Amino acid sequence: MNIAHADLLLEMQKRTSEKRATQNETVLWQHSRDESYHQPVSPDVVVYPKSADEISSILTFANEHHIPVVPFGAGSSLEGHCIPVKGGISLNFQEMKEVLEIRPDDFLVKVQPGVTRTQLNLALKKFGLFFPVDPGADATIGGMAATNASGTTSVKYGIMRDQVRNLQVVLADGQIIQTGGLAAKSSAGYHLTSMFVGSEGTLGVFTEITLKVYGIPESVLAARCTFPSVQSAVEAASAVLSSGTGIARMELVDERSIIQVNHNSDTAYTEAPTLFLEFHGNPSSVTYEASLTKELLENFGGLEWVEERDSKARAKLWEARHNLAYAFKHGYPGKSMMFTDVCLPLSELSGAIVHARKTMDEIGVPGAVLGHVGDGNFHAILMYDAVIDAERKKADQVNGSIVDYALRKGGTCTGEHGIGIGKAKFLRKEHADTLPIMASIKKQLDPNDILNPGKIIL
Ligand SMILES: Cc1cc2nc3c(=O)[nH]c(=O)nc-3n(C[C@H](O)[C@H](O)[C@H](O)COP(=O)(O)OP(=O)(O)OC[C@H]3O[C@@H](n4cnc5c(N)ncnc54)[C@H](O)[C@@H]3O)c2cc1C
Repeated sequence: MNIAHADLLLEMQKRTSEKRATQNETVLWQHSRDESYHQPVSPDVVVYPKSADEISSILTFANEHHIPVVPFGAGSSLEGHCIPVKGGISLNFQEMKEVLEIRPDDFLVKVQPGVTRTQLNLALKKFGLFFPVDPGADATIGGMAATNASGTTSVKYGIMRDQVRNLQVVLADGQIIQTGGLAAKSSAGYHLTSMFVGSEGTLGVFTEITLKVYGIPESVLAARCTFPSVQSAVEAASAVLSSGTGIARMELVDERSIIQVNHNSDTAYTEAPTLFLEFHGNPSSVTYEASLTKELLENFGGLEWVEERDSKARAKLWEARHNLAYAFKHGYPGKSMMFTDVCLPLSELSGAIVHARKTMDEIGVPGAVLGHVGDGNFHAILMYDAVIDAERKKADQVNGSIVDYALRKGGTCTGEHGIGIGKAKFLRKEHADTLPIMASIKKQLDPNDILNPGKIIL
């Protein structure tokens, strides 16, 4: 960076209407971190652009002066994605949170990047529509597109890459492009939209996102079912998928997770591995699918089955799953949390989960296993003390072993959280042969390495 700290602030103020840039220490600190365990690093300035043109002007300047630019959504990512490891400009989209256009007849919506998932669903509700991707945190659509997020509903509706129809992107040199269109399908050339989705702010800055949306189901039924072992729960989940039942969510939490939830809330759930499920459709279809599923689960050792239709009771049932990470944070005060995130072919999932649990117990790292089992994706929550080097090393060792197992079985080092800083070394293992191609795309689009440097490709 070849510009003085104070001059950078003046430049950014000049390039945003109402001078929306700051070097306030508290704001810099807020933009130095995400929800991960990675070491925070402060940016030199935080900027709040209002339009693609302002972002284009900021990037043109940053590119000329080789200043890093790091997009910042809600900061909920889990691998250090939005930590400005080389300083520079943190671009915050809180002034770009408009739902620009809803096209109910086309099942499409166009939003600015700072719109959050809940804000979008509130706007869609009056049209009888909803956006299904739910990563748990109230993330921004820009951040979700940039990490190719998924979550509990992906087993039915797919991941972010399946929803994004078009992106307006500002490139490193300030050029503004559109990557797609409004048509449901297209065979026109390389699929650039898919390339930008999941690029974690390293290839361009998204300024408008057009998404596919869905009709709100007439009826929703949620259920939970306990099992004698994690293995039987995973086998039961596979059987549900093979049966072709239109399951909308199917989440596994292990016994330790339920114990932690009971400790931290007013629940008294049976402390056993549990599948949380949801069915979307009309009243008779969800009743039919739920009863079919219950029967199937019983064949695989399913024990206690509880179902809810009322929206409040459903929300209560899902609370245990949604608040799990926070239950662990509260249960281990002062400890840091590492989230592993591998995805495997379904036939390998139960072996991988058993391996993860065994490794955690053998190495001595407390935590739990939970997962989007319908997708073959699971997480281990690893609790450790960040100031005790040996504890951090043990957590790293468990994480490494879980990833190595997944790679050996044809899986991936990250199903949904992305690479950021933490998974870069595993990306080298997983895609050693294609990494040079990825690096050359990065070089072509961002020759001065200003866009979120130090992420994905180191
Ligand atoms: C408790 C908890 C549970 C979670 N569960 C899940 C889960 O189930 N599934 C899942 O997928 N994730 C999960 N996550 C991770 C996280 O919520 C997702 O990665 C989310 O998509 C990040 O969105 P964000 O708005 O917070 O983005 P940020 O964290 O702010 O940024 C993420 C990345 O996107 C880039 N970016 C942000 N905005 C733009 C833009 N406009 N243009 C270009 N790049 C941009 C940033 O530079 C960064 O690299 C969870 C996180 C927490 C804390």
